[in-house]
Amino acid sequence: MKIAVLSRNTKLYSTSRLVEAAEARGHQVRVLDVLRCYMNITSHNPSIHYRGEDLTGFDAVIPRIGASVTFYGTAVLRQFEMMNVMPLNESVAISRSRDKLRSTQLLARKGIGLPVTGFANNPDDIADLIAQVGGAPLVIKLLEGTQGIGVVLAETHNAAESVIQAFMGLKANIMVQEFIKEAGGSDIRCFVVGDKVVAAMKRQGADGEFRSNLHRGGSAELVRLTPEERSTAIRAAKIMGLNVCGVDMLRSNHGPVIMEVNSSPGLRGIEAASGKDIADLIIQFIEKRFESLETSKDKLPKARARTRGKG
Ligand code: ADP
Repeated sequence: MKIAVLSRNTKLYSTSRLVEAAEARGHQVRVLDVLRCYMNITSHNPSIHYRGEDLTGFDAVIPRIGASVTFYGTAVLRQFEMMNVMPLNESVAISRSRDKLRSTQLLARKGIGLPVTGFANNPDDIADLIAQVGGAPLVIKLLEGTQGIGVVLAETHNAAESVIQAFMGLKANIMVQEFIKEAGGSDIRCFVVGDKVVAAMKRQGADGEFRSNLHRGGSAELVRLTPEERSTAIRAAKIMGLNVCGVDMLRSNHGPVIMEVNSSPGLRGIEAASGKDIADLIIQFIEKRFESLETSKDKLPKARARTRGKG
């Protein structure tokens, strides 16, 4: 197969592992900087240009789109989809998962366990918002935050009020959440490929830190999932429409609660903790999916097969 990897940097661990795994399985791979792609949006012959070259002939595309380039990155991916190139994760699913409000509402609607969560744009009654999620201690999150930045634990009602007021003064969008104390500063990352959790790790925050992000000095170890955790991760991935993702959850007194579903999960931490070749599993998944799409295309009448995947 001819595979494109949309990534801003070929040297990133996850990008280079995917390239390595695809080449090892005999594929032709090319890393493309998504911001350097430019497009011609026509209904009959959509195309993508890259440094003056017309990109053609790709069978599949692996999006590794960073949070800061979601808008343009998903537009480029959509263009590949219009050209009938099979995406590992679809652009619409990536956009969905990048919107914390939208994804929380989608998961809640399908009955997935979540921390009690409140959203507000500009509440006149901050005390009521705090009461809605069960009072302090509580967690306040910036909607635009990643890697644990913008996640604040307010231990008292007064602290919560001041932090919420401060964020609102800055016109930041926030989410207010029940603090899952019993998680003890750890969370679980389930790595989903297709309809399976292929590896899972427990991340523990540094001493005295309630955030478990590896970027914040946390450490990771292999963990055995309960059947409920496993099925919650698989359901969450399905609801978001992601074929490959990292589902982050906390172990709460009322079962697993989902923090986030990440559409470009890093490979370094999970490969190190599990000892598994996750990149190879992803490429195998692409091969199988491509083959089954090709087979179903053959079964369709020709006119329909040609329009498959467009739009
Ligand atoms: P980001 O997307 O920036 O990583 P998260 O919402 O995943 O932000 O929060 C970062 C970390 O903070 C989580 O992995 C978890 O360890 C901790 N955390 C977040 N929300 C809660 C909560 N409601 N209760 C307890 N710990 C939390």
